[in-house]
Amino acid sequence: MSKPIVAIVGRPNVGKSTLFNALAGENISIVKDTPGVTRDRIYADVTWLDHAFTLIDTGGIEPDSSDIILSQMREQAQIAIDTADVIIFLADVRQGLVDADSKVADMLRRSRKPVVLAVNKVDSFQKFMADTYEFYNLGIGDPVPISAASRLGIGDMLDEVVKHFPKQTGEIEEDDRPRIAIVGKPNVGKSSIINKLIGENRVIVSNIAGTTRDAIDTEVRRNGKDYIFIDTAGLRRKNKIKEELERYSIIRTVTAVERADVVILVIDAKEGVTEQDAKIAGIAHERGKGIIIAVNKWDAIEKNDKTVYEYTNKIRNILAYMPYAEITFISAVTGQRLPKLFELIDMVIQNQNLRVATGVLNEIMTEAVALQQPPSDKGKRLKLFYITQVAVKPPTFVIFVNDKELMHFSYTRYLENKIRDAFGFKGTALRFLIRERK
Ligand code: GDP
Ligand code: GDP
Repeated sequence: MSKPIVAIVGRPNVGKSTLFNALAGENISIVKDTPGVTRDRIYADVTWLDHAFTLIDTGGIEPDSSDIILSQMREQAQIAIDTADVIIFLADVRQGLVDADSKVADMLRRSRKPVVLAVNKVDSFQKFMADTYEFYNLGIGDPVPISAASRLGIGDMLDEVVKHFPKQTGEIEEDDRPRIAIVGKPNVGKSSIINKLIGENRVIVSNIAGTTRDAIDTEVRRNGKDYIFIDTAGLRRKNKIKEELERYSIIRTVTAVERADVVILVIDAKEGVTEQDAKIAGIAHERGKGIIIAVNKWDAIEKNDKTVYEYTNKIRNILAYMPYAEITFISAVTGQRLPKLFELIDMVIQNQNLRVATGVLNEIMTEAVALQQPPSDKGKRLKLFYITQVAVKPPTFVIFVNDKELMHFSYTRYLENKIRDAFGFKGTALRFLIRERK
């Protein structure tokens, strides 16, 4: 089930960062052992009551260059329109309504995206409430007074936001076709791969109806089975600023990954694996998606009998937090191993949906505990009572223990390896939740 995407749009200094931080809380630094990912505050996973969504920050604007503020705001709003399910339009009660607000509000209204108008810096309802009424003039609905800094009114604002989330009907999803996102840095060959896959498999349905997001969905039929490919490369924006471009490409990646079952991370064989690849891989890893690493342009490098080994080592090193990822070496130009990609996709999806019976899991755990004593601290030893699988996509296990504090990361890793030894679970992350049993 993909999570809704929420974006914040507004002029400089209205409090976007403050609101972002208030909503994201501790979730900003994502997976701590994912290198490179924690640096950017571009998106965060937010949970509120029983709702989960991905919050994106469409980017900062330099406040002192007033002539470009509007054009940058438009750019920012366009990103939000392209990618988000709900947009929070943030205004500032102290600065009041200004012309740029109206222009951007017009743009948002025309897009027909759900917009929640929040008026920030209403630190005291008595003092500022009356001033919020002028924001009705924007014509994008009722202003919700908030104070991001003092966390006032945030709950009411989120109530409005979640009202616009797509309804989860609770029925079985009609569309069970696997969704595959092809992600990677610019120029690694994402479009070429999609084009080649389409060319060889003929059945094409581009721009599937209902695709509102800024990614092009392509249906490919192979051996009587349908696959939906989500291309993040298809549309290009003519951004001038490099950081903006990178931010935008990360936002696109997050939104595509969010919708996907399996992520194919494309790496350029000519460049080798880089920090930026690790950052992109981290996005899929955090979200528990199936992962295949495709080293593309394999035709373009000189090889000997050690080349595959060397590339594999290097990738395993840099992407050490995802040893489960499948690696394959392909060429979009010659078509080398592209058919094998489909086999890998099938396998990864199967593994994402694999369920292991509780009895078998407990046998494995008992055996593992006998082989390697659980850790202890200050005379107290970790006891593991029971393990059971509670979810798929990704496979998620709950382990009941006597004391959570004693469950070291390394021991969880050890148990994970034992489970993988028995069942493989290749291509998918596994999640472990540790619970105390009283
Ligand atoms: P951004 O440029 O839109 O990201 O705005 P910032 O989040 O950086 O905030 C701009 C300024 O407004 C900072 O000095 C914040 O401390 C201040 N600010 C943010 N939220 C509030 C609020 O709710 N009340 C008040 N009084 N100040 C706020
Ligand atoms: P994207 O930005 O990731 O979508 O990358 P493109 O598909 O636009 O490819 C970028 C460049 O790499 C183009 O010049 C392609 O012709 C080239 N390219 C893509 N795949 C391969 C490949 O498998 N081998 C070689 N030699 N070049 C490739």
